[in-house]
Amino acid sequence: MSDGPRSIVILGGGTAGWMAANLLAHHLGREVAVTVVESPEIGIIGVGEGSTPQLKAFFDALGIAEAEWMPRCNATYKAGIGFRGWSTAPGFEGYFHPFATMLDDRTAPAFYANARAKRLGADVWAHPDRFYLPARLAADRRAPVSPDNQVSYGYHFDAHLVGAFLRDHAVGLGVRHLQHRVVDVAVTDGHVTHLVTDSDEEIAADFFVDCSGFRSVIAQGALGVRFLPFASNLFNDSAVVMPTPRDPSGTNCQTISTAMRHGWAWDIPLTTRTGNGYVYASGYCSADEAETELRAHLGLLDSLVEARHLKMRVGRIAESWSGNCLALGLSQGFIEPLEATALHIVQATVEGFLRAWRDGDYTPKHRDTFNRTIAARYEGIRDYIVCHYRVNCRADTDYWRANAANDDLSDSLKAILTCWFTGGDLEEEIARQDIAKYYAPLSWHCLLAGYGQFPDPKRMRTRVQAPATDMAAIDAFIANKAQEFPAHEAALTTLHN
Ligand SMILES: Cc1cc2nc3c(=O)[nH]c(=O)nc-3n(C[C@H](O)[C@H](O)[C@H](O)COP(=O)(O)OP(=O)(O)OC[C@H]3O[C@@H](n4cnc5c(N)ncnc54)[C@H](O)[C@@H]3O)c2cc1C
Repeated sequence: MSDGPRSIVILGGGTAGWMAANLLAHHLGREVAVTVVESPEIGIIGVGEGSTPQLKAFFDALGIAEAEWMPRCNATYKAGIGFRGWSTAPGFEGYFHPFATMLDDRTAPAFYANARAKRLGADVWAHPDRFYLPARLAADRRAPVSPDNQVSYGYHFDAHLVGAFLRDHAVGLGVRHLQHRVVDVAVTDGHVTHLVTDSDEEIAADFFVDCSGFRSVIAQGALGVRFLPFASNLFNDSAVVMPTPRDPSGTNCQTISTAMRHGWAWDIPLTTRTGNGYVYASGYCSADEAETELRAHLGLLDSLVEARHLKMRVGRIAESWSGNCLALGLSQGFIEPLEATALHIVQATVEGFLRAWRDGDYTPKHRDTFNRTIAARYEGIRDYIVCHYRVNCRADTDYWRANAANDDLSDSLKAILTCWFTGGDLEEEIARQDIAKYYAPLSWHCLLAGYGQFPDPKRMRTRVQAPATDMAAIDAFIANKAQEFPAHEAALTTLHN
């Protein structure tokens, strides 16, 4: 470590800042002084309560057991995301996007074969939910955890409590925590030398991590890194948020995403409350309209529950690593939260950065490659989210019609859609493009089949023969396996004991 950095300052104490502090302190050890400086007056965004399975890898890497953090953060298990009301195709009004598990390897080939045959005109079952165990677990409110089965899953949690938990853990690892507002950033030749606080204190370091949220104080503010908006193909730029009491009938282990008139609403179950929010496009709907629609959706039209309104900057910055600064979290970019990918990107960015930085002896030797990799990740995820808007087949408002008609699609997404609609091998196409690291064939198949994107067999001149898929055997396998998983409530109670 002799030639490495001696000090790293992280600006921002939101989830991104504290995740970075833990990962850096964990990987670099106490030889590197890590400091987090945050302004309690500015505060954190305080949303972002659903994760992908990557968050499990994060806690596992830090050696933090679920029993340690989940009860403190009102956390629940998440088997995947249920999409409701996005499609109007009969029989396809809802589908479940599962987090893939090894058990799904047993049923996925049959799903892919059926979906392809249906695309080629065969009359076969091709709705994803019947093929995947997590869909059954979510429907039955069973936790996706079982000592006998390796299953991958994510979490729901209270963002403020996770931040506080990670702060305490990081401080325990030796991270210094300062509470100041940063009013200036001193830069010489593209390198940050120090931050200046509102009490005129100078905070110097060898390296800086900008976790200052949408403000992007160092990266976009002081270093002038360009922001590349995704507004031309992701229209949503606003959200309204409103909690409700927890569901007295039990706790879901899925996020529910319901299509609304100008966007979609999330339902995220915590142990103490349900988090709700409506993500919408301000070009099509005012904040008041969105709030009223969300209240109606939640049955809260006459309620005094306060709503919180947020603006979102959707896009990414041109270079996540610039000079001696890494931008992370909202400061680095944001893809609207439909698939809850933001914290996943935070973790992937820190890990990728540490690898590149170490391999280059703590110099920017591999910076361009790293930046290209991160940019490709943003764009890979963006394409998958754009696909939701392109193929859902809602057409009841200008918002949905504009989404469906929007031809601003990447070449990658165009090739995926062409492959699907011409009956091609989607697994092969995903492998050809090397994009399974963003979304795997399972995800793409679930999305396209889940919205009922199949040609009308009556209009097809030739039809392939239906594959010999034994649906009864798949049903039995999933029903039997599901019995091996505990009720969600019971699994959460166990964590408290
Ligand atoms: C509507 C919505 C829904 C979302 N849902 C999800 C989801 O389900 N899953 C998911 O993974 N992500 C989600 N996200 C994203 C998620 O909220 C963020 O990625 C996550 O909270 C990390 O935010 P952050 O730490 O980058 O920024 P913030 O939480 O905004 O933190 C910024 C920090 O910087 C500090 N700061 C800023 N300026 C200064 C200054 N001048 N001086 C000192 N300190 C300063 C602030 O005090 C704060 O501590 C969602 C986002 C939105 C907008």
